[in-house]
Amino acid sequence: MLRDLSLVVTGSRILTSNSTDPLPATIEIDKNGRISAFISKKSTIDSYDFLENNKFIDAGDNIVMPGIIDAHVHLNEPGRTDWEGFETGTKAAAAGGVTTVIDMPLNSIPPTTTVDNFKQKLNAAKGKCWVDIGFYGGIIPGNQNDLIPLINAGVKGFKGFLINSGVDEFPCVNEQDGQNSLFMFHAEMESSDDDNNNKSLETLDKTSYNSFLKSRPQSLELNAISLVTRLAKEYSTVRTHIVHLSASDAIDMIRKSKSDGVPLTVETCFHYLCLSAEEVPLGRTDFKCCPPVREKINQEKLWQALLDGTIDSVVSDHSPCTAELKGLDKKDDERDVIKAWGGISTLQLGLPVLWTEAKKRGCSFHNLYTWLSKNTAKQVGLQEKKGDIKVGHDADIVIWNPEETFVVTKDIIQFKNKVTPYMGRTLYGVVKKTIVRGNIVYDAERDGVINIPHGSFLV
Ligand SMILES: [Zn+2]
Repeated sequence: MLRDLSLVVTGSRILTSNSTDPLPATIEIDKNGRISAFISKKSTIDSYDFLENNKFIDAGDNIVMPGIIDAHVHLNEPGRTDWEGFETGTKAAAAGGVTTVIDMPLNSIPPTTTVDNFKQKLNAAKGKCWVDIGFYGGIIPGNQNDLIPLINAGVKGFKGFLINSGVDEFPCVNEQDGQNSLFMFHAEMESSDDDNNNKSLETLDKTSYNSFLKSRPQSLELNAISLVTRLAKEYSTVRTHIVHLSASDAIDMIRKSKSDGVPLTVETCFHYLCLSAEEVPLGRTDFKCCPPVREKINQEKLWQALLDGTIDSVVSDHSPCTAELKGLDKKDDERDVIKAWGGISTLQLGLPVLWTEAKKRGCSFHNLYTWLSKNTAKQVGLQEKKGDIKVGHDADIVIWNPEETFVVTKDIIQFKNKVTPYMGRTLYGVVKKTIVRGNIVYDAERDGVINIPHGSFLV
């Protein structure tokens, strides 16, 4: 029986859903990449002398925890491969301890709004993914008949916009389109008051981050979340999810909705928790995304909501583009923040970005695991096979050193466009190894991203 093992991971700090603190343990992985045994003590290679040397990993004092499941990523292939692609995006994921990504339906051309379009995406992704990948479908006006076939084809949910998405091929929906479907919302929506507000913005300084912030006030998110929570209550057999919550003013509404038993989940992003509007330097369009990074005081309230469970998960919303679309080919004081593409690139850096901030706040490794893996697995229906280290689960594991620091430089970034607001920052948390279904896909000691693309489609 022992002879069938493909990999063994042992260490003194292994975190599972069963313990609040990491504990000594040994994980045995079978030839199918599943966890076949979990032993509550550290082992030595002597017990596994039939294994090749590099098939026995002693993680020492590094943290060993379930791989990160980033449930909000834009890989933009096919169609916008100068922005990102399956290969570069999933290599970045592997380097960041992310073992599963869920790709968004928009910014690829075509968007994932029909089964035919979905097939084009799967074809484009074939043989290029270093980590496992699932897909969301999109809802746009008039594609209601495509939703059931898309579910049958394996999408994990649908994303719809209540405001201009930023790309022409993915128009926003209205309340009628929203009924009878399974949904995730980009929760910003304009009202007639906001239209007037937008007109007065034309006179503002377009190079200032503040002008952009004023153009996307919290009220847009409140309008949308009020509609979404109302619909979620009305159609309570459908699970509803709010993507990238930024507005803390909406927290009470969400809390009330959840306490009424509405099946609602909410995510926020690394940038809303770890960046603030006050710190955006002049011309730094790499800090721009929609909804926007808001003030420090807003960030504090998001942290409270995350810690009390009102916010379920933290994702990257990795939404890259070229440096030109960010206006970065211009001088700092000539960059138009209003016009620049709204999206932040974080995929490889989520764990250290969040840990650096969470550490200061006294958060535990179990907190990180809950926000980054456990709750995102559940959100996309993967909790029976991913998001935990336990017998029968896929051996998706990240091994990292929380005490070690590194500096974000262009050299280490695996995603296509080396544009990120975290450039130059010193972060706590160095990923040592990433394991996807028993395959080592990232090894800091062996040239970083290694092996061949082992990612499978979660459809
Ligand atoms: Zn997004």
